[in-house]
Amino acid sequence: MIKQAKFVISNTDYRKCPAPTKPEFAFIGRSNVGKSSLINMLTNHKNLAKISGKPGKTQLINHFEINDNWFMVDLPGYGFAKVSKSIKNTWEKMISDYLTNRDNLVALFVLVDSRLDPQPIDLEFITWCGQHGIPFVIIFTKSDKQGKSKTNQNVSKFLDECVKIFGEAPQYFITSAQNAEGKEDVIAFIDNEVIE
Ligand code: GDP
Repeated sequence: MIKQAKFVISNTDYRKCPAPTKPEFAFIGRSNVGKSSLINMLTNHKNLAKISGKPGKTQLINHFEINDNWFMVDLPGYGFAKVSKSIKNTWEKMISDYLTNRDNLVALFVLVDSRLDPQPIDLEFITWCGQHGIPFVIIFTKSDKQGKSKTNQNVSKFLDECVKIFGEAPQYFITSAQNAEGKEDVIAFIDNEVIE
């Protein structure tokens, strides 16, 4: 259960992140996938993570401390159309440095829009995660936006692509920030990994 959530620090350098003394769970996904909405839903906050008006604006690693015993990390989104090559390179370096060096990272939640067919950019990103041994879990977002069968169809297609890449399907959750579907399951997954 999330009883308390507080902002700790934002920065661009994994070396300036809080001391890695607590288990950490990070969230990433395509810009506009619903990451801020999901973080706010999970933490029962209206505005812990800023719901982005401008896709791709926040280029920071944002640390929150939950219940004084684990870190939640809001990572900047990828895949926004209108950014320059240099911003993209800066993002890639910041994220890859963070993900490959953060010793206390228990799981990276990769958010995927449940309305869409498998997107190459998401598949490329999780392929990279697999190659670098990053422990990731998929969170399908915005499930309320269409009927259950359409969601399940898109989830299946995505998992099929994962099987092609990895030989097995990753762990996943189906969520909605609108009606809180999946909220308890995601929190239970985290709680299970965190020793109180
Ligand atoms: P971010 O860029 O990934 O942080 O995405 P946001 O959380 O800012 O969400 C992008 C847009 O999708 C906003 O207009 C949200 O209100 C909307 N949105 C996010 N999650 C959901 C959801 O679960 N259901 C619905 N219906 N809309 C959502």
